[in-house]
Amino acid sequence: MSRARELFPGGVNSPVRAFGGVGGEPFVAVRGEGARIWDADDNEYIDYVLSWGPLVLGHAAPVVLDALRDAMVRGTSFGIPTGLEITLADMIRARMPHVEMLRFVSSGTEATMSALRVARAATGRDMFIKFDGCYHGHADSFLVKAGSGVATLGLPNSPGVPDALAALTLTAPFNDIEATDSLFRAHGERVAAIFVEPVVGNAGFIPPDAAFLPALRRLASAHGALLIFDEVMTGFRVAPGGAAEYYGVIPDLTTLGKVIGGGLPVAAYGGRRDLMNSVSPSGPVYQAGTLSGNPLAMAAGIATLSALTPDVHRCIAARTRVLVEGLRAIAARRGVPFTADSIGSMFGLFFRAEPVRSYADARGADLALFRRFFHASLDRGVYLAPSAFEAGFMSAAHGDSEIAITLQRLDEALGAARG
Ligand code: PLP
Repeated sequence: MSRARELFPGGVNSPVRAFGGVGGEPFVAVRGEGARIWDADDNEYIDYVLSWGPLVLGHAAPVVLDALRDAMVRGTSFGIPTGLEITLADMIRARMPHVEMLRFVSSGTEATMSALRVARAATGRDMFIKFDGCYHGHADSFLVKAGSGVATLGLPNSPGVPDALAALTLTAPFNDIEATDSLFRAHGERVAAIFVEPVVGNAGFIPPDAAFLPALRRLASAHGALLIFDEVMTGFRVAPGGAAEYYGVIPDLTTLGKVIGGGLPVAAYGGRRDLMNSVSPSGPVYQAGTLSGNPLAMAAGIATLSALTPDVHRCIAARTRVLVEGLRAIAARRGVPFTADSIGSMFGLFFRAEPVRSYADARGADLALFRRFFHASLDRGVYLAPSAFEAGFMSAAHGDSEIAITLQRLDEALGAARG
């Protein structure tokens, strides 16, 4: 890691990897297979991070590797249309019919940034609403958190984001319909879109209240704004058709990433045909990418979605529930304030007795206990996300035996973490 620190800021190529949220040094991964990864010292870990979500089939899934080998020998990039793009787009649309038309890009950041541009162009408005604790990639407009109070004008939380731009990002607490409504009452004429992680995965795992997403749909429509679901994390995880299917709320635009690339860099934004037709070259909203729709990435995505049948999805979801119920039982037996939940193959836990409905609630959990629990788990060969504010992920490769081993190790880890 010292060589890495000399070469990269904080020794990493994406900040959470540095273990800043839990202290200590990250391990250096050398190999993955199924539910497991190995580090440079040959330590083995059962992995619940899965490259932050994409690896829904597990590491080095044979179907993905075969698809990559097949595609690779034909060339790695063409920069001109290929049939693979159509195949993957068809697969996405079959699962998410509201994504009538889409554009492939290479990262979630590009997808959200472009979807926001489309929304601003379609409405001729400059502001948008996001929710405290939701992460939508690192484009300037999204690097804004809520200030104090129920809802407030945005303040940039990264230097380098101009105040003038940050002021166009309005924020409200997640699950707070009243705060969202007041933003519309104050700024409705200028709000282009509501941007939301329909199930939050970037402030820990926080499901929406039953009324929240329908209320956002209603508010957006009533005020002539677009509803944009950022399903980069939830897409093909909370349900085969993502959160839109799970909650029965249809957004105008959707952003996707992670699972649709099966571990290679793919993301997409899409939705209503009339909106997507505004994108260049059909329309004037400019957006482009040298490696967009890259054949290797498309092949990995096709292999992943082909294998992720509704039955496989149901099976991973059932195992995720077993993991979460096991964790609840362990915490209850040990008398530790704890809350955990899952939807599909996404899960989360907090050391806090009451349910977590917002980022503020999440910050009120016992973070010091989480840090100790994280390290005690890692020492016992279970790799959880190195932050109390991240969701966990399961894959088709996490079988009953991995879950049983995990629960036994996490039971010991919790005992050790409490000291
Ligand atoms: N949106 C959500 C909900 C995410 O979880 C992420 C990344 O974790 C992004 C957008 C950004 O995606 P990327 O890291 O591919 O730029």
